[in-house]
Amino acid sequence: MLKMMIGFMKDYWKYRDAVKKQHRWIVKYAAQKGYAINPSLMMSKNLEVWLSEMEATFGKRYCPCFEPSGDAKLDKQMCCPCEFIDDEIDEYGTCHCALFGRGDLDKAGWKASSQRLMGEYRVPLNMKEGVLDTRGMPLDPRRGLPIPDAMHQMKATLNGYGGKTLKMIVERDQEAKNLETIAAFRGYGFSKTASDDGITVTLDLENKNAQGASGSCGQ
Ligand code: SF4
Repeated sequence: MLKMMIGFMKDYWKYRDAVKKQHRWIVKYAAQKGYAINPSLMMSKNLEVWLSEMEATFGKRYCPCFEPSGDAKLDKQMCCPCEFIDDEIDEYGTCHCALFGRGDLDKAGWKASSQRLMGEYRVPLNMKEGVLDTRGMPLDPRRGLPIPDAMHQMKATLNGYGGKTLKMIVERDQEAKNLETIAAFRGYGFSKTASDDGITVTLDLENKNAQGASGSCGQ
């Protein structure tokens, strides 16, 4: 818990100006739509930090729960507030990431949605002999993207990771591309090799310019 709080404070400080900007549009948008914002300050501030990090890394305000898909139409739909929000609020009471919810959602409803989200992301990862195999995760029914995706699996692994490099197997070229973008943003070294069995990505975490690992949805 203490480690999580320290990580949050570091990220919050790093993105403080961007977070203020996110907060302004989030409040305005929620009021326009009659939606509520997640009443957990920790959760809503984390989501503002993660949105800021997505924008800083990928150049667009992508949903913090999904990495860019590489499909221009879907990626546009996934910019926050995404095109799935109304449908998801109808189904869960909140959007997928539990940032926005129904105006009259009670405490139990918010809690249930946060637990749904945690359940999706806090899953056992497939790490074998020092290689993180990110393939085979369930797909989100609306976006057709894995949960947790390679980016979130990487972030979850790096929390408390002591290794100098991280080797990962990803299924799609876009996932490798996203990891390369994240590596460039954080100052990690990056290399990849393709085989019939997938793409193996190696992140060199020892690079002196590397920035700290940030958390993400449900972590
Ligand atoms: S699921 Fe929520 S946080 Fe994610 S993009 Fe949609 S509205 Fe934004």
